[in-house]
Amino acid sequence: MKVFKFGGASVKDAEGIKNVYSVLEQVGHKDVLLVISAMGKTTNALEVVIKNYIDKSPELQSSLQDVKKYHNQILLDLFEEENHEVFTVVNKLFADLEYFLKHNKSPNYNFVYDQVVSTGEMVSTTIVSQYFNYRGLQNQWLDVREFIKTDNTYRDAIVDWEHTQQNIVKKIQRKTLNITQGFLGSDENNFTTTLGREGSDYSAAIFAYCLNAESVTIWKDVQGVLNADPRYFENAILLNQISYREAIELAFYGATVIHPKTLQPLQRKEIPLYVKSFINPLLAGTSVSKGADLEPHTSCYIVKKNQLLISLSSLDFSFIMEENISEIFALLHQYKMKVHLIQNSAISFSVCVDDKFGNFSELKKLLSKKFKVTYNEDVSLYTIRHFTEKSVNAVAQNKEVLVKQVSRETMQVVTKEKI
Ligand code: ASP
Ligand code: MG
Repeated sequence: MKVFKFGGASVKDAEGIKNVYSVLEQVGHKDVLLVISAMGKTTNALEVVIKNYIDKSPELQSSLQDVKKYHNQILLDLFEEENHEVFTVVNKLFADLEYFLKHNKSPNYNFVYDQVVSTGEMVSTTIVSQYFNYRGLQNQWLDVREFIKTDNTYRDAIVDWEHTQQNIVKKIQRKTLNITQGFLGSDENNFTTTLGREGSDYSAAIFAYCLNAESVTIWKDVQGVLNADPRYFENAILLNQISYREAIELAFYGATVIHPKTLQPLQRKEIPLYVKSFINPLLAGTSVSKGADLEPHTSCYIVKKNQLLISLSSLDFSFIMEENISEIFALLHQYKMKVHLIQNSAISFSVCVDDKFGNFSELKKLLSKKFKVTYNEDVSLYTIRHFTEKSVNAVAQNKEVLVKQVSRETMQVVTKEKI
């Protein structure tokens, strides 16, 4: 069996869904499990719904209407008959969501989040499955929550591999086309859980692992894994073949093409991962497999923009040692700052972090009690794997380098645009 994953961008409108159908016609669909994300930016739109619900905002209804209208338009574009049963099934999913919002008593934000945001995947897979049937491509729609079992860490659930494996082995039919949701699972009490944003790649890997699948293919709007993000770098080139190890490193440093959790289950069973273009499905794309290393040996660039560089030194000229460092990290964790680089010297300690939730001003107050705090906002963190002098110069050109860190294969620099 092969596992295919199609992300939000591939099913963002009726054309996209028709294209997924055409990809399957070209590459085959006989013994395939399709894992599909929410359509387009639906997850973000549902996050707005959640915010309005929590804030008791009068915008709640209109934000919900936006999501409904978006899907309704896709349905109208796909199905000629307005009384096709898909309209009823999708309406029922939205009615369930509204029922939840009306009757929920739980004050747990993360719990509410998962119950609401999951509607995106439930709706997208329903539409795709029904559309394929409509076109004569018979398939089996599966509720992933009957398969992937997790603990109840809502928004970042941990997979219960044993139960998941049992469910998948017992209940998934081979030799047909199965369609299910990415990103979702369920806990012991059958409440919906999610695996973390962009987690559908990981869902595909979980199924592949439990099914001993032949391969996993992630279908993207780019040709495969490139050596750089084409939005920020000119002349990005395709990597034909990389090792699991290389892919893990790239994902870890922030290449967004593969979700970092995806690779380890696949590596464990040596299941190859292909990253291919849904626009040109017959091209080879990138293959991620055992051993085979970068060919050719190319520098790979990963950039994280909008980072914050915080430097701390002690107020009393003492050194920053273990005790201080553990305290600093506890605070960074508490204020949800993701640390991307650490640099330590005798008298100062610097971290490059992502202040995704805008908590820095509060954190600064606390840190200032014990340390002298200096910081640079809006810096960029560049990671270059397999760096060369040329690649480093290219990145540092016209920028002020604030921090530089070098290990054997990887160089990281924190830069600020020169004004
Ligand atoms: N729909 C979810 C998200 O946007 C999961 C995914 O796309 O992988 O985060
Ligand atoms: Mg998505």
